[in-house]
Amino acid sequence: MTDEQSIENQATDFEALDRLEAEEKAKTPIEKVNLLGLSPKKMDAFFEGLGEKKFRTQQMLKWIHQLGESDFDKMTNMSKAMRTKLAEVAEISLPEIVYDQTSVDGTRKWVMRMPGGSSIETVYIPEKERGTLCVSSQIGCALDCSFCSTGKQGFNRDLSVAEIIGQVFVASQCLDTPGEKRVRRITNVVMMGMGEPLLNFDNVVDSMELMLNDFAYSLSKRRVTLSTSGVVPMMDKLGEVSDVSLAVSLHAPTDDLRDVLVPINKKYPIKELLAATNRYLENLPDRRKATIEYTIIKDVNDSVEQAEELAKVLKDTPCKINLIPFNPFPNSGYERPSNNRTYRFRDLLHERGFIVTIRSTRGDDIDAACGQLVGKVEDRTRRQQKYIDLQQVND
Ligand code: SF4
Repeated sequence: MTDEQSIENQATDFEALDRLEAEEKAKTPIEKVNLLGLSPKKMDAFFEGLGEKKFRTQQMLKWIHQLGESDFDKMTNMSKAMRTKLAEVAEISLPEIVYDQTSVDGTRKWVMRMPGGSSIETVYIPEKERGTLCVSSQIGCALDCSFCSTGKQGFNRDLSVAEIIGQVFVASQCLDTPGEKRVRRITNVVMMGMGEPLLNFDNVVDSMELMLNDFAYSLSKRRVTLSTSGVVPMMDKLGEVSDVSLAVSLHAPTDDLRDVLVPINKKYPIKELLAATNRYLENLPDRRKATIEYTIIKDVNDSVEQAEELAKVLKDTPCKINLIPFNPFPNSGYERPSNNRTYRFRDLLHERGFIVTIRSTRGDDIDAACGQLVGKVEDRTRRQQKYIDLQQVND
């Protein structure tokens, strides 16, 4: 074979290769963007990428989050060409509901299956003046609080924005009564379901943006609450990008006890946690208080002396205290205190000038009560162990 022939053959080979590559590419389905999980800013970027104007973002947010529409063909204020283009590159993919039950007291629980097989739980609690949706941020939890059934399940993975906001979407759709004038049933959202929201920071912040956005769920920042067990550096980071309300899972008045109940306390003890809480509150544009969550457990943290200590610890933190009588679950090793003990604890805090509420147990018959959100979780990533290892290295 001459040099010329060899070069010619190589060229033919390359052409054949190019053809093969192109054929393979055509066979591989394009990964579609799930518009359910795009924050307003990311939605802007998406439409910009399609050569469209920003007002498309407002239209799309309304269709998805306010009108509950997931079929592009029904989005009639967009041109046919636009809808065809959207169907090629995007989708609106919703979580799959595998369980939907309403308690005798009106509390409603959904279990949603996520890609990968694990499931998460979302709970709606209707009250006279408001309806609160308790939303999960992770599948399982790495923080292993000793009184929490989710913590006992270990950690599987973070939820995506679509999976977090998907819970609000599903609940809104399920709570809407067909034919009835649209009534806002979800007035409050608390990031207090499964998981530690600050350990899934970016996705939680994007989801909360959608909760607050006027074209999506349009909730007031006072009515969206992030509850943390005390990941101090991320509390400061949250203050830089958001002004939602803050709840702090304290559960103990001393570090010795909190180290046992909420192990992250070994890394960020009470003094640091409350200092971070104060910094967060100082940065808010209004004089909002933090909510201090205190799961009250028989003979563990329910004595009058401990109430007195709690009052001292919280004296410089603008807050209201929410007492949550412990909800027993199998092998927890803890018990719920008597009502009398709980009232005594509350009364002492009242006497010290605090606003105190006792959270009534809701949805007992459907396992929707606080601390009972278990789901079906497999700790495939062993993140819980990694977290503990990291903690030991940092200690
Ligand atoms: S209480 Fe919250 S942070 Fe602690 S293990 Fe349970 S879900 Fe995680």
